[in-house]
Amino acid sequence: MALVKDEAIILSTRLFGESDKIVRFFTLASGKVSGIAKGAKKSQKRFMNTLEPFTQVRIEYFEKPTSSLVRIENADLGESNSGLEVSLKKVCVASFFTEFVDKLTKEKQRNEPLFHALKKILDSLKLVEFTVTDILYYELQMLRHLGYMLNLASCVHCGKALPDMEKLYFSKERGGTLCPGCSRAVPHRQYPQGFIPRMLTLNDARIGFHGQVCGNLSSEHGEREGEAPTGFPGEGATRVPLVASSAGFERMGRQVLEDFVTYHLAVEFKSYRLLKSITG
Ligand SMILES: [Zn+2]
Repeated sequence: MALVKDEAIILSTRLFGESDKIVRFFTLASGKVSGIAKGAKKSQKRFMNTLEPFTQVRIEYFEKPTSSLVRIENADLGESNSGLEVSLKKVCVASFFTEFVDKLTKEKQRNEPLFHALKKILDSLKLVEFTVTDILYYELQMLRHLGYMLNLASCVHCGKALPDMEKLYFSKERGGTLCPGCSRAVPHRQYPQGFIPRMLTLNDARIGFHGQVCGNLSSEHGEREGEAPTGFPGEGATRVPLVASSAGFERMGRQVLEDFVTYHLAVEFKSYRLLKSITG
């Protein structure tokens, strides 16, 4: 058995027996992994504040051929979760995105962009409170990294490119906009003019975001200089949202993603209801 060393973000933990912990973590090189940390409850020294939700660690573990659980040998703290505990909202946002990654990934499926997106969210959350628009933005990024892309540029039924003024209909089944003609044949929800183009702007904000994420692959710390600021949390000193937040936009944006995620992924996030009640 070779010792595996990796970067990881702790997704969840639970006590097991008298003194052990079962830990689920998302790694840079191997995706989601579940492991057991022997004596983690008693041996505070060995796993001092490291095996807690939302912490970022350099982890060492042994894979066991007879078990799906790896044996966690060591975890050195990279980034603590300190700073998230100051508000219930921050904890809820962190819980939602860790649950999102946990529920929508399979064990041992490498997904570096998703790892960096989650890291970015947790780092940014320590600095700022997220608006609902911020949450929508990161949710769109994560869906994209998971292979689920909304099509908000052209009709998902006939393929026709749509001018902004005709983007009024969203089909959750097809995952995108419909032209007026196809809207007569395909189930959809209708939205006010201007809403879908704003969602598209939010979705496309990935260009700057993704550039930064790629930049960070080769450097462990800090932001890469010279990347286009996108105006979302942690992506520049001045925070100028690309898409203006408004209650109406946020309510409809949330509805689009709720419809889409429920229909395509059939997953319920335990943390989502609380997050929604807090963010209004
Ligand atoms: Zn069409």
